[in-house]
Amino acid sequence: MIRKLLRKVFRRAAEQPNREPALIPRERHGIAREQISPAARKTCAVLQDAGYKAYVVGGAVRDLLIGHPPKDFDVATSATPEEVRALFRRSRIIGRRFKIVHVMSGPETIEVSTFRAAQDAETDEHGRVLRDNVYGTMAEDATRRDFTVNALYYDPTTEQIIDYHHGVADLEQKTLRMIGDPRTRYREDPVRMLRAVRLAAKLGLAIDPAARKPIREMAALLENVPAARLFDEMLKLLFSGYAVRCLKQLREEGLHHGLLPLLDVILEQPLGERFVWLSLENTDERVRADKSVSPGFLFATLLWHQVLAAWESKKAAGEHAQPALFQAMDEVLEVQADKLAITRRIVGDIKEIWALQPRFEKRAGKLPYRLIEQPRYRAGWDFLRLRALSGEIGMDLPDWWERFAHAGHEEREALLRAVPAAGEAAGKKRRRRRRKPSSARAAETAQTT
Ligand code: ATP
Ligand code: MG
Repeated sequence: MIRKLLRKVFRRAAEQPNREPALIPRERHGIAREQISPAARKTCAVLQDAGYKAYVVGGAVRDLLIGHPPKDFDVATSATPEEVRALFRRSRIIGRRFKIVHVMSGPETIEVSTFRAAQDAETDEHGRVLRDNVYGTMAEDATRRDFTVNALYYDPTTEQIIDYHHGVADLEQKTLRMIGDPRTRYREDPVRMLRAVRLAAKLGLAIDPAARKPIREMAALLENVPAARLFDEMLKLLFSGYAVRCLKQLREEGLHHGLLPLLDVILEQPLGERFVWLSLENTDERVRADKSVSPGFLFATLLWHQVLAAWESKKAAGEHAQPALFQAMDEVLEVQADKLAITRRIVGDIKEIWALQPRFEKRAGKLPYRLIEQPRYRAGWDFLRLRALSGEIGMDLPDWWERFAHAGHEEREALLRAVPAAGEAAGKKRRRRRRKPSSARAAETAQTT
């Protein structure tokens, strides 16, 4: 009984913001101020000169500590959004869930947020925090962050890290530890479960057992999170450069089943599984090589085999190829776009990529010349190549187009003259395909993976 009481008191104490954070000097953590982007350094300097506290915080400090290049730099400050706004000519206050300030400097945008306290936040009936715009001290700001490794503050002036929750030690021990009681923190914001999996996979950290265990039990809370926020988080996951690792871990943590429609499409669909994973691997490679990636392209791959199945059945019912494809596209998107919260712009991109696919089969006259001039040609070709790599079509088609796109006039004409033979082969393939219902073919593809 007494022990229980003591434990309770101690736990309470542990949850209180630490009064004495560790001040870690550069010799120990190794981050030099030159590693901070010029805009973030300048933002901190201007705020500090005006008498406020200002630090680089969150993901950037964490990433620099483990030698990952930071994606962007966030600044936390004691100045209110209005005070920040007054100091920077090129800045504006953004207010969605939180009020923050975007400070523009050169090509960069720095997100500046005011120290916040978690107390007195408004919650829904499940304990989910709806708004927490209550400003607080720096210690409180550290405590309302999710994981210890995300609550590190770097001062570009002194080159010190201010560490309230032993985040540096946790990072050294490769542990992702929740600040406070994990169950409470997941109840406040169920998206933290997804963040845990994403950050652990991306950073190569193990989720601390206390934070890992409740995920399976509490997964259903994700149903209360607005679809748009879930979609944002899924995009972060898919474009983290570690999507394959993240998704495998989500499956392990039991976070995939029936909770997130997007994940069902990726992890549960019987059609085109090989194609989807190839596409995810390809996305990871591109992100890590700093090449451009587009949600439209990725979603087009995720849903392609559903379109193929619908297309085949419409053609089998006697519809002409082109209108059948457009009907199939609309059908699949109508069902999925709602569930996945895909934005209208992305839907447009997806359709463009799909609509290009049958045009790659037309290799006569002026058509190929027109196709390679299409603004979305490259995306369409990348998609075609993935289809070939996954075994859906032969490699000869993307190869032919790659040669055609880069050839001079003479060579192009020669390539066009060489098409009939290739066209015959493609024709044969189509006839062979039509004999089997699409579901049997899908099962075949799945088996070969
Ligand atoms: P990355 O940008 O690499 O995806 P990040 O940790 O920087 O990872 P952001 O979404 O940019 O993620 O958030 C910035 C910081 O805000 C985090 O490091 C964390 O301190 C805090 N934070 C973000 N989301 C939450 C959340 N749901 N609950 C508590 N704190 C959060
Ligand atoms: Mg970030």
